Amino acid sequence: MTSEKADYIVAGGLVVRGSGITREDVLISGETIAEIGPDIAPDRASRVVDASGAYVLPGVVDAHNHPENADRIETFSLSAAFGGITTVVPFVRSRRAAGEDDTTIDAVNRFIEEANETSYLDYGAHAILLAADDVEEQVPGLIDMGVISFKMFMTYPSRGMMMPDDRMLRAMELASRDGGIAMVHAENGYCIDHLVDQFTAEGKTSAEYFAQSQPRLLEIEAINRAATYATVADCPLYIVHLSAREVLDVLTRFKGDGLRLFGETCPQYLDLTNQKMLDHGALAKIGPPLRERPDNEAMWRGLASGLIDTIGSDFCGFRADQKFTGGQSAGDEDSVDGSADSSIFEASFGGNWAEQMLCVAFEEGVNRGRVTLPRLVQVMCENPAKIFGLYPQKGSLTAGSDADLVIFDPSVSHTLSAEAQHCNADFTMFEGKQVLGKPVFTMQRGQIVIQDGEMKRERGQAKFYPGNRDEAAYAPSGHQLVGV
Ligand SMILES: [Zn+2]
Repeated sequence: MTSEKADYIVAGGLVVRGSGITREDVLISGETIAEIGPDIAPDRASRVVDASGAYVLPGVVDAHNHPENADRIETFSLSAAFGGITTVVPFVRSRRAAGEDDTTIDAVNRFIEEANETSYLDYGAHAILLAADDVEEQVPGLIDMGVISFKMFMTYPSRGMMMPDDRMLRAMELASRDGGIAMVHAENGYCIDHLVDQFTAEGKTSAEYFAQSQPRLLEIEAINRAATYATVADCPLYIVHLSAREVLDVLTRFKGDGLRLFGETCPQYLDLTNQKMLDHGALAKIGPPLRERPDNEAMWRGLASGLIDTIGSDFCGFRADQKFTGGQSAGDEDSVDGSADSSIFEASFGGNWAEQMLCVAFEEGVNRGRVTLPRLVQVMCENPAKIFGLYPQKGSLTAGSDADLVIFDPSVSHTLSAEAQHCNADFTMFEGKQVLGKPVFTMQRGQIVIQDGEMKRERGQAKFYPGNRDEAAYAPSGHQLVGV
């Protein structure tokens, strides 16, 4: 009997799935996982990758990122790959807020073209719907292209980004009709703008006023409102970057009422507090703002209990000088220098959190006993893939799935720093953080991506993965539908 050899065996590791941890080998043939089981004979493959003493995880699926500033998809995906991420789902938006004649469909086509040439990792896309976008036309057209998730901002009215409530409700109806899913940045934009104007008029523009201008009440109110509209429209709803501890009560109520409601938090809301804003000003400016220690703890409780379903990075790569100048891209807006008398309200929103995301979540979650490693795999790999229709090709270690995996060595101690990261952003709010555990090997569709601390894959091998709307929004692993 002749049998063709497989390409790789990833041998000797502890395979982690949402359902548990097992000692198994992974046999890879071409782009897919051919078999997983204990003691696969080494001579069944041409090459053996030794994973002994380490965990084998599905590649992380980062479903929240904005590669549109100092880091576009090329350097963002490079940096993400070093962090154990293998699939990215960026947000794409039209140029309508800048007054240009453009559509979201055009923007997605441009993005796919750029990513096919330059991305190091497989990718999907979410569409951002702006007030000026024609949702009647764009939503069905985007769903046909495999872009099944639509993000709307409930804030930033003065930046032309806020979706008015009636348009949001209509977009949810259209998404629901065609099998899509709505996503919201939930903060009350009118109140934030009002408070920012008030603080500015009083000359209160230093870092200490930032969190006060975007209070937790405004996040809680907006989540209630978005979940109410989603209930009326019968539309699945994904709430990005949860940050305030009170949101758990809102999730409990609406999930308990049967809304297909999914919550995401981010490494920064799991580990950092407003102290970073007080210490670093503009560099720590994100929306929603960094909050307090009890909020970090509540985000962990939400992840552990199943109320919060995913962790995403919200990567938005700016260099430090761009943060201070407040430009969405270099040099395109009012210039503000980085000195103490610059207004915090003029600085850019966003941080570069992708490369450190898995290490921070493992250190703060698993090493500190707040969540199990299988739960971490649910919220970082399985659930983002399930919610956005990429499962089981992505986010899964199963025969037939794409051979996307990470070898994570839990014994490597290292220090997070801007120096060590691979994006163009030149700072990190995790600077100096000591962590135990590191992704040391990454593979995508049977190709080695990261090995021996180096990128081994050429750009331009990545593929666009359309969201499968028949699979989208089905119950994620550990998802809690009934209140705690
Ligand atoms: Zn974001």
